[in-house]
Amino acid sequence: MENNFQYLVEQFADLRILRFNIPNFEKLPLPQKKYIYYLSQAALSGRDILWDQNNKYNLWLRHVLTAIYTANSKIEDQGEAFKLFEVFFKRVLFSNGFHHHYSTDKLEVNFSKEQLQSLVAHLTEGQINGLRGGSKEELFEKLLCLLYDASFASKRVCQDPTKDLLVESANNFYEGVTQKEAESYYQKKYRESGHQSISHGLNSRLVKEGDTLKEEVWKSGGVYGMAIDQIIYWLEKAGKVAENKDQETYIKLLCDYYRTGDLHLFDEYSIKWIHEQSGDVDFINGFIEVYGDSLSYKATWESLVNIKDREASEHVKVISDNAQWFEDRSPVDVGFRKKQVSGVSMKVISAVMLGGDCYPASPLGINLPNAEWIREVHGSKSVSLENISYAHGQASLKAGVLEEFAANEEQIELHKKFGSIADNLHTHLHECLGHGSGRMLEGIKIDDLKAYGSTIEEARADLFGLYFMADEKMLELDLVPDMDVYKAQYNSYLRNGLMVQTARIQLGKDIEQAHMRNRQMISKWVLEKGQKNKVVELTQIEGKKYIVIHDYEQLRALFGELLKEIQRIKSTGDYQAAKDMIETYGVKIDQDLHQEVLERYKKLNVAPYTGFLNPVLEPELNDTAEIVDVKISYKESFLEQMLRYGREYSFIDNFERM
Ligand code: ZN
Repeated sequence: MENNFQYLVEQFADLRILRFNIPNFEKLPLPQKKYIYYLSQAALSGRDILWDQNNKYNLWLRHVLTAIYTANSKIEDQGEAFKLFEVFFKRVLFSNGFHHHYSTDKLEVNFSKEQLQSLVAHLTEGQINGLRGGSKEELFEKLLCLLYDASFASKRVCQDPTKDLLVESANNFYEGVTQKEAESYYQKKYRESGHQSISHGLNSRLVKEGDTLKEEVWKSGGVYGMAIDQIIYWLEKAGKVAENKDQETYIKLLCDYYRTGDLHLFDEYSIKWIHEQSGDVDFINGFIEVYGDSLSYKATWESLVNIKDREASEHVKVISDNAQWFEDRSPVDVGFRKKQVSGVSMKVISAVMLGGDCYPASPLGINLPNAEWIREVHGSKSVSLENISYAHGQASLKAGVLEEFAANEEQIELHKKFGSIADNLHTHLHECLGHGSGRMLEGIKIDDLKAYGSTIEEARADLFGLYFMADEKMLELDLVPDMDVYKAQYNSYLRNGLMVQTARIQLGKDIEQAHMRNRQMISKWVLEKGQKNKVVELTQIEGKKYIVIHDYEQLRALFGELLKEIQRIKSTGDYQAAKDMIETYGVKIDQDLHQEVLERYKKLNVAPYTGFLNPVLEPELNDTAEIVDVKISYKESFLEQMLRYGREYSFIDNFERM
């Protein structure tokens, strides 16, 4: 990759903004460039859907904040209030709404009510009318309620099992529906539809009208119809320049699904999508991940357009080619293993365009589809986002986190030598084998584990990777240059799970995000079991705590033991065991240790969360308005990009106003 590429763009609050590079985009043939361009337009067109899903007032708030920003940025000598406001505005833009993208807590306002009033005062008459929120004074009152009232929409995704998860969640997936009502509504649907069932509720909002529950489906002509029509428009253009017939077919199925909202079509599309392997350009576009819903029925909208890295993909293909070998040797009970692992495919890609829930905070690896029955029958497609990981790694290299939290020179050296190979390999094993492994007993569904399902699923995938990284098979398959690679991963995994990742959380608060819960749960569990006989310990050196692994082989055995239990929990749908495991090890943070981590991390001055700007793709047209080339550039700043997206991709105007 280019060495002079500027990865770091800026840093504010707890956020770090990076760019990613797309190697050799210029050299792609024109048809591929056009295909990528159309898919990218489709990827950006659904942006407003996610905003509205996150909270029903998000779009309204974004329009108001944008107007305030625009009005005040034109004024000379803006002063303190505007500077504070700008940071808050950028945080809202980053989070796709007024709740933190990761913790899902309502973002704290960093300016006073008086300061806000002084900013609102600069709105012009035209802006006020355009916002349709009443007079300037009324608008101000509404903002006070939305931004300063701590009890109003305080949490986007509530996971507190003592509360009604739906009533307490501020997302926009249910209206007037209690947790009990939603659960029995969907449980009934699943009971009636048998094993090979569509993912009920995935693409709709559940509302109560009188005494009956009704689904408002997200489709053309529906609530998000205006944005969905734009997506269809660009997808259809893409379909005409697809690389092969299979891509053309699944794009058509996807469009039909967007038109009708029929989830059978979405499953049909997903199956075709898994089997298409020959093209270089690939994409995700749809209602995909269910982390935003405490009950895991409703999916947020996301998109990712990408190009295959042929060479790197060839290298990791041996993982999927040997999937059955791993499955047969997995430490889980024979009855919970897959007898026949099918169709797990693995590829390394470069992201080109991130959209919806992938933007700006991007995943590093993706394994889809999520529908359990499709995974069992048809397998899944697994990708790792090489250029995103690379940008991450480049920006983190100088941050000093490793030096602060590694126990000794040996750990630092090990990480510098093998850290990035180890991390990539773990991601590959997690996505390609972990999520695809194991089987459920007849009649058991992942939502039997309710709010704990996502954490258990992530733990399963992580543990599968951790366990097999230490296997000699890695050497045999030429996946590692040296058997010490896994040791680098074991060190960094525990360092992160027990310490570094908690830098993202305020003192006194619990861990809520599924991936983070999973990492602490695994780390804390092996630490507890392993410290008795000195396999691993948390030691104190010169007043600071560090993780030291004394016996890597034994630690591997502990990962295997935990994997066995986690798979049992998933396969049998053991809700109580999932709850006990996660509440005991994954949720509460040791307060002394947490305080220490926060202090040590603060001194490093590194923002704990990362997001990415997209490149700008610009088509070059000839006299007859045909695309003759697509130019790529990386010059946009964070606000420039966000404000441009707001101007060019605001397709939903029937949103709720306060
Ligand atoms: Zn995962």
